[in-house]
Amino acid sequence: MVDKHNRSINYLRVSVTDRCNLRCIYCMPAEGISCLRHEEILNYEEIHRIIHIATQLGIRKVRLTGGEPLVRKGITGFVQSLSTISALEDISMTTNGILLESFAEELFHAGMRRINISLDSLDAEKYRQITRLGDLQTVLRGIEKARQTGFSPIKINIVAIKGFNDDEILDFARLTFDHPFQIRFIELMPLGDAGLESDNRFLSNDSIRDKIETLGKLEHVKRGQNGTDGPADIYALAGSKGQIGLISTITHNFCSSCNRLRLTADGQLRTCLLTDEETDLRGPMRSGCTDSELTAIIAEAIANKPARHKIAANGTYIKKCVKEMSAIGG
Ligand code: SAM
Ligand code: SF4
Repeated sequence: MVDKHNRSINYLRVSVTDRCNLRCIYCMPAEGISCLRHEEILNYEEIHRIIHIATQLGIRKVRLTGGEPLVRKGITGFVQSLSTISALEDISMTTNGILLESFAEELFHAGMRRINISLDSLDAEKYRQITRLGDLQTVLRGIEKARQTGFSPIKINIVAIKGFNDDEILDFARLTFDHPFQIRFIELMPLGDAGLESDNRFLSNDSIRDKIETLGKLEHVKRGQNGTDGPADIYALAGSKGQIGLISTITHNFCSSCNRLRLTADGQLRTCLLTDEETDLRGPMRSGCTDSELTAIIAEAIANKPARHKIAANGTYIKKCVKEMSAIGG
């Protein structure tokens, strides 16, 4: 389906839970998190129904996210059930990797082939600081298991934070010399209260690219050569096995080509990550709406997808977003 700004919408990110086994400083507050109640969260049948209808409106790719998608019970069976939707060409996941070592094989057998793993530091102590809880070795074992199982490509997401992990940018980039990973730097987004704590921490991807260029020539990989990149600008260091992705949500906003929708764990359809407008799907579904009524609600939300997000290129709000990433589904 095409929206009012002539963008073809074919990608849906689904948050299957707002819960998480970590507490990353830019994503969740340390304490006082109010989680959704069990009955507020869409059950798998409801999510499946929405995805099925969304494919009839042109959605071809689904990414499962959260919160941490692997903490939701029955996730593998759900992936398996999505594999039966024939119009769906791609099912992937973004995970913090903590439970990946035990889930990689079953996810692969359920039909998933692509995975993104978030990892903001290669230093065990710093990793624990930023996640408040996480163990680096557990994630590294998860990444290795995913590689052995056959997931490809494996993408590693790093939120670059000034004064915290900017001294590790080159270490991350060097990983691409020996590993076929796509190392992706994501600009810090000022979301919710946790995002605001990080106000002076913003680091632009231009400065990251300049830094990485000290390692060697960075060649731009043309769009279309790699169909799974989404908004990332892809580069490769000469002689490397992997790639570097730059996702510059703030400094080079890609709203004019945005093809995404998001479904929150409590059944709100969000047509833009960085604005707070949502369309309730759970209410109508639980009041017994028909498939054609649900289709009409989703179609109207798509048509009205905003032209661009509400954050200026210097990282300040044009209009503040209230929800944190863990509540929206990153
Ligand atoms: N728990 C999973 C994970 O961490 O991969 C999936 C959900 S998480 C919200 C999805 C992605 O959003 C992660 O790569 C995370 O680093 C990113 N993220 C969360 N808060 C962010 C923020 N304020 N700015 C930029 N990226 C953020
Ligand atoms: Fe959890 Fe992912 Fe948010 Fe970290 S970024 S707190 S792992 S949802």
